[in-house]
Amino acid sequence: MRLSDYDYLALAFEEANQAFEEGTYPIGAVIVDDDGNIVSKGRNRVFTESDCTAHAEVDAIRKAGHKLLDIPNKRFVKNNLTLYTTCEPCPMCTCTILLSGIKRVVWAADDDEYGGIRKFKEGPHFINLFDTITYTASPYDDLENKQRDLLARWNIGRGILNTEWEKPK
Ligand SMILES: [Zn+2]
Repeated sequence: MRLSDYDYLALAFEEANQAFEEGTYPIGAVIVDDDGNIVSKGRNRVFTESDCTAHAEVDAIRKAGHKLLDIPNKRFVKNNLTLYTTCEPCPMCTCTILLSGIKRVVWAADDDEYGGIRKFKEGPHFINLFDTITYTASPYDDLENKQRDLLARWNIGRGILNTEWEKPK
């Protein structure tokens, strides 16, 4: 039976409260399938596990791998999962959600400073953060082709042909 969005957010808050008790960011998340079943629960573990990437949404997505990935065929599964989180996902979690294939997100509180979903959807944002890093993009042809070749072989091996990786630059 499918509960209301409010009830699933309440379950996410149980995780947030637990994170608070443990001494880290009080943010929790749950992932729910089409029928309303809980697929996974996650909570922030940044300070409890000394891991900058251990946000609640990422924690829940890691535990939902069995619903997101078709391991024997090495594919992502089309899914109708909903991720409920107590706070608007940050840029890292926003991108993790995009790459997981999860299509619906419900959050309890907007995060106007670090929330990523609304800002990414509006257009270029976080320029101030990008201004603090430099990057060197593919400076060596041999190394670029080595990586492209690895990805091409990986794709061909799982039956995905004609990807951009197959052409050496
Ligand atoms: Zn995050």
